[in-house]
Amino acid sequence: MLILVTNDDGVRSPGLRALAAAMSTLGRAVIVAPDRNRSAVGHALTLEHPLRAEELKPDLFAVDGTPTDCVNLGIHGLLKQRPQLVVSGINRGANVGDDITYSGTVCAALEASLMGLPAFAISLDSLQFNSQDFAAAADFARQLAERILQQGLPQDTFLNVNVPSGTIRGVQITRQGKRCYGETVVCNQDPRGRNYYWIGGSEVGFEDIPGSDGNALAQDMISVTPLKTNMTHESAHEELRNWSLDSFVSLN
Ligand code: MN
Repeated sequence: MLILVTNDDGVRSPGLRALAAAMSTLGRAVIVAPDRNRSAVGHALTLEHPLRAEELKPDLFAVDGTPTDCVNLGIHGLLKQRPQLVVSGINRGANVGDDITYSGTVCAALEASLMGLPAFAISLDSLQFNSQDFAAAADFARQLAERILQQGLPQDTFLNVNVPSGTIRGVQITRQGKRCYGETVVCNQDPRGRNYYWIGGSEVGFEDIPGSDGNALAQDMISVTPLKTNMTHESAHEELRNWSLDSFVSLN
């Protein structure tokens, strides 16, 4: 059994190590992770320059690229055989609602899913970590991985798992909710009197949507959201066909 472990918080992140330790009870866990924090790089793939992978010790690779690069390098280069599972996390902070497409953690699982491999991302709803926080999330990850290895995932599905910090009251299968980001750009002046802007200035919350990922966390429940890579909006597809966009182009 071969399991590829990655994240977006970087190779030194304690959440990554906790996840890898949990996976190593199921088989051989190989870490291929960014050499630094690459949170919020989404599904970015590095094409303009070469990538380096440093083997810090056996089965532990630090890559100077994105989480998606790591999954690519792991599967197509560093691992000698195809893994049975790809896991990403444990991320520092929840990835719910609109976070999903920003999240390097989630997009690493997305990338694995595009490659036809079962995958899940796991995040802890806490920005201040201590080592005990990981125990519950890592233990859930281990059991989930075991189940996926036994019975597989539904076709074209990967999972986005979010674990509350503190008390856990159960597990909910959820839908992607909606973030509310508030005032997110801070403007200030640098020492030379020029403006700079910093995105992510205020606390983010999420809308109160029953059955959503955010609501599950608010109720101290582990949220498991099944996701798919194909984002086509089926009902909009129907509606847009009635727009007769053919009339915008001159047809011969
Ligand atoms: Mn992160």
